[in-house]
Amino acid sequence: MRNITLGSTGITVPQNAFGALPIQRISTEDAVRLLRKAYDGGMRFFDTARAYSDSEEKVGLAFEGMRDKVFISSKTMADTKEKFWADLDTSLRLLKTDYLDIYQLHCAARCYGEGDELYEAMKEAKAQGKIRHIGITAHKIGVAEDIIKSGLYETLQFPFSYLASDRDIRLVKDCEKANMGFIAMKGLSGGLLTDSKACMAFMSEYNALPIWGIQRESELDEWLSFFKTEISMTDEIRSFIDNDRKELLGEFCRGCGYCMPCTVDITINQCARMSQMIRRAPSQNWLTEHWQQEMMKIENCIDCGICKTRCPYELDIPNLLKKNLKDYKEILAGKEI
Ligand code: SF4
Ligand code: SF4
Repeated sequence: MRNITLGSTGITVPQNAFGALPIQRISTEDAVRLLRKAYDGGMRFFDTARAYSDSEEKVGLAFEGMRDKVFISSKTMADTKEKFWADLDTSLRLLKTDYLDIYQLHCAARCYGEGDELYEAMKEAKAQGKIRHIGITAHKIGVAEDIIKSGLYETLQFPFSYLASDRDIRLVKDCEKANMGFIAMKGLSGGLLTDSKACMAFMSEYNALPIWGIQRESELDEWLSFFKTEISMTDEIRSFIDNDRKELLGEFCRGCGYCMPCTVDITINQCARMSQMIRRAPSQNWLTEHWQQEMMKIENCIDCGICKTRCPYELDIPNLLKKNLKDYKEILAGKEI
C-alpha cells in the first residue's frame, strides 16, 4: 500500500483511510469493533466531525490508550469563536485526547483568512497545542481554489472520485504544488460508485488521501483487502472507469443531502438520483411501495427554489427531480433498464 504525506503537516499514512460519518448509524459496540479492525488491518488515519452525532465518542473509545498510534482529524461548523472553542473542547473530551492531528473548518462557505475570528481561533488553538494542523473542508470548487491560493491552510478536504472533472483534478495537483495535504471525501460519490477496486485504482494515481465512509464490516473488508493486494491502474480498470463516466457524467446528484429539508418533504438526496441508483443497485430495492410513494412526492414540488440555494453543485434540483420522476414512471410502466 502506497503511503501519502499530507503536505506540510508531514503526516504520512497509507493511502487508505477511514471516514467515520457512517458509524453514527451503528451501535457503539459495533463501531468500536469496526474501528479497531480497521487499525489492525493497517488503517492509520481516521476522520470524524462534531456534526456526526456520536462518531467522535466512538472513535475516542476505540483508540483509548493508543492515541499516539493513530492520526485523528475532526471538524467544526462553528460560526463564532465562542462556538469554535466549545466545539473543540467537546471534540477533545469525546475523543479522549488532548490534541487533534488536524482540525478543519467544516463545509466552509468561503475561505476564512487572517483577521476572521474562526481563522484566528484556529491559530490560537494551534499555538496552545490543542490542534497540530489547520485544515478546512469545502464542497464548492471556487471556494476550494481560493483556499489553496490563500496559502493559509495545511490540508483541504474536498469531494473527489473517478467522476472528477478536469477542474477537480487540477485542484488536487495545485494542492500538491502548494505543499498542502488533499483529503478526498466521497470517493464513492455518495454510494453511486460501487466498484471499490476501480475507486482505489483511480485514487492511487493522485496525491490524495481517501477517507472511505465505512459502516459495514463487509465494506471494511473490501478496503482492507487492498493492504494485501496492491491495486494500481490497468487498461481494464481504465476502460471500466471511462464507460462509467460516460454513463454518469453531467448533471448528477451526489446524494450529500445539503439541500434538505425540502419545503414539501421530498427526499431530494435519493429522488434526484433515482435514475442512476435504480440502474446500479438491485433495482427491486428502489421499486418498493415506500420508494414509489417517495418519488410521487416530487409532484408536490412548489418550485420554491430553497433547495437550489443550498446545493454545493449548483444543480437545478426541481428540474432534476422532474426528469427522475418521468424516468421512474416509465420504468414502472415497463421500460427496460
Ligand atoms: S424547489 Fe421543490 S424540491 Fe426544492 S425545496 Fe422547494 S419544494 Fe422542495
Ligand atoms: S441535489 Fe445537490 S445538495 Fe441535494 S443531495 Fe444532490 S448534490 Fe447534494
